[in-house]
Amino acid sequence: MKAVMFFGPQEIKLVDVPVPVPGPGEIVVRIGAALTCGTDFKAYRQGHRVLLGDLPAPFGHELAGTITAVGEGVERFTPGMRVVAANSAPCDRCFYCNRGQNQLCDHLKLHNGAYAEYNLVPAQIVKHNVYELPSTLDFKEGALAEPLACAIHGADVMRVGGGEKVIIIGAGTMSLLLVQALVERGAKVLVIGRNPERLAQTRKAGADHTVSGTDKDVAASVKEWADGVGPDCVFEAVGKTETWQQAMALARKGGRVCLFGGCAMGTRVPVDAHRVHYEQLQLQGVFHHTPTYFSRAVELLATGRAKTELLISSSISLADVPAYFARMHQQSNPKVAVIP
Ligand SMILES: [Zn+2]
Ligand SMILES: [Zn+2]
Repeated sequence: MKAVMFFGPQEIKLVDVPVPVPGPGEIVVRIGAALTCGTDFKAYRQGHRVLLGDLPAPFGHELAGTITAVGEGVERFTPGMRVVAANSAPCDRCFYCNRGQNQLCDHLKLHNGAYAEYNLVPAQIVKHNVYELPSTLDFKEGALAEPLACAIHGADVMRVGGGEKVIIIGAGTMSLLLVQALVERGAKVLVIGRNPERLAQTRKAGADHTVSGTDKDVAASVKEWADGVGPDCVFEAVGKTETWQQAMALARKGGRVCLFGGCAMGTRVPVDAHRVHYEQLQLQGVFHHTPTYFSRAVELLATGRAKTELLISSSISLADVPAYFARMHQQSNPKVAVIP
């Protein structure tokens, strides 16, 4: 079969590898659609130890497809079933997984290999984090479960409630998903971003209002929109030191700040310690997802309420992937479906 392998930063190649054969507990999925993800572009640019592990590595992590073979002991799944597989699963033996915090698992090994004709899904993922797709969902919509699960996770950890005023900094794909997860909970959302077209997309996704990040007085517009006091909750969905600081500065007294965009290892961000203490700011990092959030994402997609058409701009073939990454990695891109 053909598979895209990651050999190093800015070095991915389409290669021939054997079609996988499932061992005990494993399944093989013929990929119906894989989706490009900002994390994959980040990995392409600079490498990504957490995502990819040892090199050369299979590449791509958002996938849905049809089961073609199941290993010994697999009972819940049969060939021909249409499924979405998550890119991680609880290990069942560490402190964190035993407390439902799979995203913090000591053995967290992110599963890749979506940019290929077939994917061998590891036994732990088959056991905890593979879901059958309803016939109403196509493969590319089903593959959105992974990023949507991260957004639902963020909204849940921040305990966002009905009627709350919530800001998202950043207008990329994760922002479009966060808007939907937050509106689902009854929040009113304002998005700050630089690209006018992207901001318009977030309004279509359900944002109440948008503000251009290049405006002179972003803070004043945000405060005015949020009852003159400031937002109850702010999501940083960019992953830069400036926007982390902006998120902490925009929250109202007693407000919550979700640091959703990951920064590179070693990054330091100055914090207004006086404000955090005397104005009781709550700072919360959120990373990845767990099977609970993944299954909720599949459910939300199955209801048809998620506006999936806003999220995927076009389709490319497997053979196009290396050139596409080479051409597009410098910018922030909407999702593209890779159809083998
Ligand atoms: Zn992703
Ligand atoms: Zn674990």
